[in-house]
Amino acid sequence: MTTTKSTEILVIGGGVTGLGVLFDLAQRGFKAMLLEREDLATGTSGRFHGLLHSGGRYAVKDPHTARECYAENTILRRVMPHAIEDTGGLFVLTPHDDPAYGERFAAACQSAGIPVEELEIAELLRREPLLNPNISRAFAVPDASVDSWDACHALARGAKEYGAEVLTYRRVTQLLTRQNRVTGVEAQNALTGETLTIEAGMVVNAAGAWAGQIAKMAGCEVKIVPGKGVMVAMNYRMVNTLINRCHMPADGDILVPVGTVAVIGTTSMQVSDPDDLRIEDWEVRRMMDEGEKLIPAFKQFRPLRAWAGVRPLYQETAAGSNTRDVTRGHQVLDHATRDGVEGFVSIVGGKWTTYRLMAQDTVDEVCRKLNTNRPCRTADTLLPAENEHKTRRYYRLNERLRQREHGELPGQLICECELVTRQ
Ligand SMILES: Cc1cc2nc3c(=O)[nH]c(=O)nc-3n(C[C@H](O)[C@H](O)[C@H](O)COP(=O)(O)OP(=O)(O)OC[C@H]3O[C@@H](n4cnc5c(N)ncnc54)[C@H](O)[C@@H]3O)c2cc1C
Repeated sequence: MTTTKSTEILVIGGGVTGLGVLFDLAQRGFKAMLLEREDLATGTSGRFHGLLHSGGRYAVKDPHTARECYAENTILRRVMPHAIEDTGGLFVLTPHDDPAYGERFAAACQSAGIPVEELEIAELLRREPLLNPNISRAFAVPDASVDSWDACHALARGAKEYGAEVLTYRRVTQLLTRQNRVTGVEAQNALTGETLTIEAGMVVNAAGAWAGQIAKMAGCEVKIVPGKGVMVAMNYRMVNTLINRCHMPADGDILVPVGTVAVIGTTSMQVSDPDDLRIEDWEVRRMMDEGEKLIPAFKQFRPLRAWAGVRPLYQETAAGSNTRDVTRGHQVLDHATRDGVEGFVSIVGGKWTTYRLMAQDTVDEVCRKLNTNRPCRTADTLLPAENEHKTRRYYRLNERLRQREHGELPGQLICECELVTRQ
C-alpha cells in the first residue's frame, strides 16, 4: 500500500541536527516534516560522549570550531537547562603529556575567548581526589555534560508545538526528481512495510554519517568520512567534573560523569560503512589503559558496557587515514549551485554542541533560496522540558539516585548503571 503526503520542507534524519533544523523551520513558520529510519537519536546523537564542549578541546588545533563551541555552549545552557548538568571541565597535564602543551592550551583558550583558570594541584585534588596525584597542571573551563535524549525529545516536542510532523521508522529509499529538481522522497515504513510518498517544496538532508548515501540518491557526491569512536561506561562516578587530558586530541582522553557512572572515550577509526559499529577488544583495552593515566585505580572499577558511534566528518577532498585531522566545522551545501540540483540542501559535519548553529545556517539558506526573510529565534527560546507535559516517557537517573539515597527505592540493586532494583 502507498500513502501520499505533502509538505513545504522535508527533513531527513532524526538526530540532533535534523531535529534542530525541524524546530527552527517550524518556529519560522514553515510547514515542515521529518523522517527518521529508526527512533529519534538512534544514530550518532544517541551514541556520543555527552560532552557539551567549551571549545577547549579544539582551541589549539581548530580555533574557529573552538569559538563556535563556546558561543553555542553559552546559548544551550540558556535554552535547554533541563538537559545539561553543569559539571565544569578540567584539562589536566599528566606525566604522559608534553609539558609545553599547557602554555599553548591556556594561550589558545584566551585567544578564542574561552574562560580558562589555572588551579593549584592541591585544589585540583581536593575537588577530584581520585585523579592522578602526579598531574602537574590543571585548567578549569566551562565544559558540561549533556543528555542527548532529553535534548532531542525537547526539540521534537517544540517542533510539534509549532505544527511540525515527526515520522519515525520511515527509511528514505529514494529522492524523487523532476528536471534537475528534488520534488520529494519515497520512504518505507520499517514496521509495516508500507510505502510512503512525500511531495516537498524542498528537502533538507540532515542524515549525519549517512548524508553521502542520501545525496547519492539525487546524483550528488558528498564525501563523508565516517569516523567510528568507542566509549566505555564504568560502574562508578569517579569524578564530578568532566576531565580532559591536556594534549592534542587523542584516544581515551576524556572522562565524562553521567548520572551514576563515568564514561571514558573515545577511539577514532575511519570505517567504510557508517552502520559498522563493531567494537574490537583492543579498543576497550585502550580505553582502560588510558583511563588508568587519569585515575590510577581506574581498572579496579568495573566496565559496565561499551558502545560505538560514527562521526559525520565532512571532507571535500580525500582525507588521510587519520580522522582526527578532519575539521569538526560544518557546512551547508546548496546542491543547486554545487551540483545543478534544485530544491535540495545538505547540512554536513559539525558537533553535537554546535547543532543549533548548524540548524540556523541551514534554515537561513532555505530562506535565501525561497527569497523570504524570517529571522532565527532559537537562541532565545526555551525548549519544552518533558516534565512540563506531565507524561514521563523515560526517567532521569538523578531522580532515581535521589530516591535510592532517601530510601524511596527499596530492594536489592540489580543494575548499578540504570539503578534498577529487584522490586
Ligand atoms: C564517538 C563519538 C563521540 C562524540 N562525542 C561528542 C561530544 O562529546 N560532544 C559533541 O559535541 N559531539 C560529539 N560527537 C559528535 C556528535 O555526536 C555528532 O556530530 C552529532 O551527534 C551528529 O548528529 P546528526 O544529527 O548530524 O547525526 P545523527 O545523530 O547520526 O542523525 C542522523 C540520522 O539520520 C538517520 N538516517 C540515516 N539514513 C536515513 C534514511 N535513509 N532515512 C531516514 N533517516 C535516515 C539516522 O538513523 C540518524 O538517526 C561525537 C561523535 C562520536 C562518533
